[in-house]
Order: sequence, then structure tokens, then C-alpha cells
Amino acid sequence: MSGTSSYRLSYWEREHLVGSDIDLAIIGAGIVGLCTAIYYKRIHPTAKVVIFEKMPLGAGASSRNAGFACIGSTSEILSDINIYGEAKALSVVKQRYDGLERLKSLVGPSNIYYQHSAHGCEVFTDAESFEKYSELIDGLNDMLCPITKLRKTFEVESINTLGFYHQGLINRAEGLLNTGLLYSQLESLAVGLGVKIIRGVSLRHFESNATSVSLYFEKWVRPIHTRNLAICTNAFTQNLLPEMAVTPSRNQVVVTSIVDTTHIPYGYHFDKGYIYFRAIGDRVLIGGARHHFPQEDGQRKFGSNEANIEFLKQFLQDKVLTGQSFNIEYSWSGILCGGENRDPIVNAIGDRVFVGLRLGGMGVAIGAQIAYELATMISGRSL
Ligand SMILES: Cc1cc2nc3c(=O)[nH]c(=O)nc-3n(C[C@H](O)[C@H](O)[C@H](O)COP(=O)(O)OP(=O)(O)OC[C@H]3O[C@@H](n4cnc5c(N)ncnc54)[C@H](O)[C@@H]3O)c2cc1C
Repeated sequence: MSGTSSYRLSYWEREHLVGSDIDLAIIGAGIVGLCTAIYYKRIHPTAKVVIFEKMPLGAGASSRNAGFACIGSTSEILSDINIYGEAKALSVVKQRYDGLERLKSLVGPSNIYYQHSAHGCEVFTDAESFEKYSELIDGLNDMLCPITKLRKTFEVESINTLGFYHQGLINRAEGLLNTGLLYSQLESLAVGLGVKIIRGVSLRHFESNATSVSLYFEKWVRPIHTRNLAICTNAFTQNLLPEMAVTPSRNQVVVTSIVDTTHIPYGYHFDKGYIYFRAIGDRVLIGGARHHFPQEDGQRKFGSNEANIEFLKQFLQDKVLTGQSFNIEYSWSGILCGGENRDPIVNAIGDRVFVGLRLGGMGVAIGAQIAYELATMISGRSL
């Protein structure tokens, strides 16, 4: 072998480890890729499904997110209604709600340490910004009731101990979960159904015709053939499909040393959800603030923005862990995927080629729903 760029699969690798006669190849082992495989196998139990993932562990965003099982804060939903209209904004909220229900029923809430009582809570710095939104929650609750089945999805809640205005708005349809457990549960579920997951391979391009799709991977000399292809590459899609209307953006996340978190019972959103924080046991996770760092938009490479990390640390010190000393013990970035619209893309884009992507900052909630829509679209059947 003269180098990895000319790697030829052995007979055993090609026929048994990858497998021939693939019914569905999925690119990307994030929440969408894994759930698409699970739903497709449930529809077609004997189908050969293989997921190809370029990363060694986890995925782009699915193993690196904050674990908010959220459908939207007041300011976010109201802003979406303003921009996209009521029908469109509410249909995205419904997709998130339905996705969350699907996710919980796929993996079981206790297996992902789903804490329903750790609702979403939007916090504000002053009375004026709080009142601007609190005055509108009755109308919003009426609009959301058919989706969440709750008479009051949003309610005013006392926020006594944080460096914010003393009242916030909680969303009773939201909760928190453990991102690592969710990822490993989905992976085990897929593997248990007979799905193969091959890591460390990156799809370079594909060619499709009426009967099959040929997949050309970096480093592998010969293509792999499949009957159908699902592209679930979210923020990284433009490498494969440059015309797709997706915008990557990098989000920084940090986790503190052990601190007192008893005053942080919820999953908090601030500034239209751009900044979010929660307790993970005796530590605090905080992420976001990319609206203060515009260079993070368009960025699809993992890496650190030290100024962003310092901003999050200072925010914690000023508003969340006031009076406590702490260190940042973990910091990482993840790449999420937005675009000009809020809604995800689930589509057939050619002969036997399908996409499920653009999940924004809500992929934990919406991912299983998008995967369900994608799997049923590919098979032409529903569960
Ligand atoms: C820091 C951060 C915090 C977040 N917090 C939350 C939250 O609290 N709640 C919430 O609902 N959402 C949150 N999100 C968003 C959520 O994580 C994403 O919307 C969701 O994980 C997207 O899932 P996915 O499967 O579409 O994409 P991904 O998880 O990004 O998976 C796509 C996969 O495709 C692979 N891939 C790409 N190109 C190729 C190729 N050519 N060949 C092979 N493989 C390829 C990538 O390596 C990647 O693993 C957050 C996102 C980030 C970045």
C-alpha cells in the first residue's frame, strides 16, 4: 500500500464488514442519521442499513450539545411568528414537540436521564424586557395548547437567587436530558436492530441513477453501492451539496468545576436563547453567545474562540455563580446548522438520494421527527 489515499478494501472488508447489497446508506451518525436508521429498520426489518460517519466518536453536534429538550422560549417563538408568520412558526414548534415525544418513546426517558421538571426558563435582566414578553404569554398559551395539550405552556416563575430580574418565564413542555446517554442509547438501539456503523470514513461525492447510488469515500479506492442514500450531514452538507441553503455556525460550550448548583433547577435561556445554561449535577454548563462573536457564523471547523469562552466565564461569574469561585474544567465547540428559514429540510433531491438536515439549535427535540419523516419518505411507507 503506497499511502492511505489508495486504500483498497479486502474481500472480507467489502463483503462482510461493510457488506454488499446495501438497501440504505446513511451519511452522518448524528441524531438524525441514527434515528433514520432505526425507523427504516422498523419499517423494513430485513433491510441492510449502513451508516458512514467521518468522526471517531459521537458526531458534529449530537454528542456535543447542551441537552436542552426544548421547543422554544417566549421571545424566540414570538420573534419567529413576527418573521415567518403564525402558521409557519407554530408548525416548527409542533415538529419539535412531536420529535421530543418520539425521542422519549424510542429510548425511554429514564435511560437518557430526562428531567421533565427541569423545565426551560427564560430569564431577563430587567422589568421592562420581562414585561414585554410576560404580557403576551396568555395569547401564546392559547396558540400552543393544541400542540402541547397544556392549558398554560408558559408561566411566570420566581427567580430569586440568580443575577437576573426576579421573575422569568418557564416552559412546562420542556426538560433537560443527558446528551451522552442519549447518543449511546440511539447508537445501541440502531446496532441492536442490525444497523452497521462505520466510523472514520468521509464521503467525497456520489453518483446516482434510477437503480443505485455509488458512494466515493476519501481514502477508499473503489466506490460502495447502495439502493438509497440519506444525507444527514447537517452543518457539513455544503461539502457534498454546495447548493444547499445551510449555514454552519460554531457554538462554544464550557463546564465548570464543582460548585453549588442548588439555585439552578431549570434549563435557562437568555437573550432569545443565544446564551443557555444548566446544572449537570454539581457543575454548570453554559454555552452560546455567538451573536457577540459574528466570526463564529459560517464556521464549520471545530476549535476554540478564547474570547467567547472568556465571555461565558464572566457571564457565569456576574450572573449565575455570583460570589462563588470556580474554574472552567471542560470546554469544547460544536457546529450547528441554520439557514434563512427556521424549518428543517426533508427532501428527495434526486434519483434515490434524500436529505434530512438544517436542525438549528433544536435538533435534540426535532431530530427524531425529521428522521421519522425521512425514513417514511425513503420507504414510501409509514410505521
Ligand atoms: C454547542 C451546541 C449546543 C446545542 N445545544 C442544543 C440543545 O441543548 N438542545 C437542542 O435541541 N439542540 C442543541 N443543539 C443542536 C443539536 O445538537 C443539533 O441540531 C443536532 O445534534 C443535529 O443533529 P444531526 O444529526 O442533524 O447533525 P450532527 O450531529 O452534526 O451529525 C452530522 C454528522 O455528519 C457527519 N458527516 C458530515 N459530513 C460527512 C461526510 N462527508 N462523510 C461522513 N460523515 C459526515 C459529521 O461528522 C456529523 O457527525 C446544539 C448544538 C451545538 C453545536
